[in-house]
Amino acid sequence: MKKNKIMRKLIFLTALAVPVFLASCGGDQTKNESATSSTETTDTLPEVETPVSNTIEISGNDQMKFNLQEIKVKAGEQVTLTLKNNGTLAKQAMGHNFVLLAPGTDVEAFAMKAMTKQDADYIPSEMNASILAHTKLLGPGESDTITFTVPKGEYEFICSFPGHWGTMRGKLIAE
Ligand code: ZN
Repeated sequence: MKKNKIMRKLIFLTALAVPVFLASCGGDQTKNESATSSTETTDTLPEVETPVSNTIEISGNDQMKFNLQEIKVKAGEQVTLTLKNNGTLAKQAMGHNFVLLAPGTDVEAFAMKAMTKQDADYIPSEMNASILAHTKLLGPGESDTITFTVPKGEYEFICSFPGHWGTMRGKLIAE
């Protein structure tokens, strides 16, 4: 993706360089400069905006993925979040939860602690200060709805089932 963009830019600049070079030899400097600067802004690709909503539906699957990597909510207003496990594998092998972490949490350290807490559905109670909200651990076809309110900021969320946090991880932005 990034490489493509750079390549496009290189091709674009190469194409641009020839007439600019010729024009600067020709003498009309002011006209030439304004033409070069105006082309700079045309090379940005449009980005898909994540909608802001306080009713969130997110799912996990057997490929250890959430369907959302970014969630945007309104700060200071209650969020209702439903996690659904869309997979078919047994809970013991491929359970999913949604754990919203406090800013500044060391995600890896948290996940390492969580994986030792099978009896507590991988929610480490000694790290409660780092947990802003979490769902139950869900087996195939199950869902759980939670509510929480967060101030303006950026938060990371993970599935704390052992080994899942590497791919089941995303960002919640409250604005
Ligand atoms: Zn998971």
